[in-house]
This record gives sequence, C-alpha cells and structure tokens, in this order.
Amino acid sequence: MIIPVRCPSCGRVLGDKWEDFKERAQDGEEDPKEVMDDLGVESYCCRTVFLTHVDLLEDVAEYKKT
Ligand SMILES: [Zn+2]
Repeated sequence: MIIPVRCPSCGRVLGDKWEDFKERAQDGEEDPKEVMDDLGVESYCCRTVFLTHVDLLEDVAEYKKT
C-alpha cells in the first residue's frame, strides 16, 4: 500500500527514499542495486522492503470514503 516509514526489521527510516527509488529504478532505467547503494540502503532487510513493495496507494485512494 504505502511504503513503511521505517524498516520493520531494523528501524531505519526508508519512507524518505521511496520516491527517489521509484523514479530512478522503477520508472527509470537504472539498476535497483545501484540506486539502493546510492541512497545508502545497504542492509538486506531494508533492500527487501524496497524490492518487494507494491505501490497501491493511488489505486486504493479512489475508494476513499468522503
Ligand atoms: Zn532494515
């Protein structure tokens, strides 16, 4: 849904890096490994969060009750 603000395993803040990652690795052509290295996301627990996240926020927002 929305990227966890912190890594559930180690607690490092990840929420501020998601937009950069998405722009460069998912929408862009860059290698996800290099983007994560560049953003300072080094531990595998945090990398898992980035690589397995499915961004559904926009889809779910359509059904928001008003
Ligand atoms: Zn972590």
